[in-house]
Amino acid sequence: MKRILVINTGGTIGMVKTNQGYVPNLEKFRENLNKMPELKKGAICEWELYNMLPLLDSSNMTVEEWNKIGEIVALNYAKFDGFVILHGTDTMAYTASALSFMFENLGKPVIITGSQIPIGEIRSDGRDNIITAMMIASAQKVNEVCIFFRGELLRGNRSIKYSSDGFMAFKSPNAEPLAKVGIEILYNEAMLLPKPTKSFAFQKLECIPIGVIKVFPGIQFELFSNIMAENLRGVVIETFGAGNIPSNASALLPIIEKAFKNGTVITVCTQCPQGTVLLGAYETSNALMSAGAVSGKDMTTETAIAKMYYLFSKGYDTDTICKTMEISLRGEI
Ligand code: ASP
Repeated sequence: MKRILVINTGGTIGMVKTNQGYVPNLEKFRENLNKMPELKKGAICEWELYNMLPLLDSSNMTVEEWNKIGEIVALNYAKFDGFVILHGTDTMAYTASALSFMFENLGKPVIITGSQIPIGEIRSDGRDNIITAMMIASAQKVNEVCIFFRGELLRGNRSIKYSSDGFMAFKSPNAEPLAKVGIEILYNEAMLLPKPTKSFAFQKLECIPIGVIKVFPGIQFELFSNIMAENLRGVVIETFGAGNIPSNASALLPIIEKAFKNGTVITVCTQCPQGTVLLGAYETSNALMSAGAVSGKDMTTETAIAKMYYLFSKGYDTDTICKTMEISLRGEI
């Protein structure tokens, strides 16, 4: 019988409706879990619940909460066979991306899940999500941080929140699901990361100033000059298509050059959910590359942000960070 630690961080799964909208309610959540026969100790696995207080709507998650979740896993790593993290859906993809980097040489499953309807309500998707997440954590097939939601197990750092109201709330448009869950749980063996040979380590993140700029027709880049070159250490530029910016955005290149010289890492991602950045494919992206920007390739913006936090927190120099942004560390590219 496998031992799983369930870490409850909050989110809709454990919320109740109030006059001010949905809020986390630990008592009701405990009551609802106790009513589920599938979760009786030993039915799927032996498990313990750790409530990370205060329970949060995941919109309130910060680097500090990522560190807290990471510390709980690291402290309990040897005692449990796997981990299920209950989390709000709004920033689940960010947390999954961040944890995927913070856990180095992860050799156990870390499955993040939640729900669109609270577990105490009649049509809740939370019950199946939590039961199946526990089964996947107990199966010991994956050695990475994943999101399980509505029948699909996705690589965490490839996932995006795709729907604000559908039950299929997550997608990983650039990577096939790690498993599909119907009558059986079918793993996509070719996609799974191998068990690491080195021992597990945990890297805490520092709260580095990072920004995201989404390019749009008519953008006045000069407005971003100071923050990009002086205030931020990492910037993700969400460009059009394969990494393109307007050709007449002449203000941008000197800003990027200045930022680059100041040690700011500029990573180019695409606004398209599917596909990759290919710097240099068009004249409109070539200039970005010459100015010192690095390609985020097919990384999600969520992952590019998390990876910059991680690489800066490791204390690497700018050159190493720029090079590492373009190399896959945890299957994120
Ligand atoms: N606002 C909620 C949260 O992210 C939404 C959810 O859990 O689905 O915590």
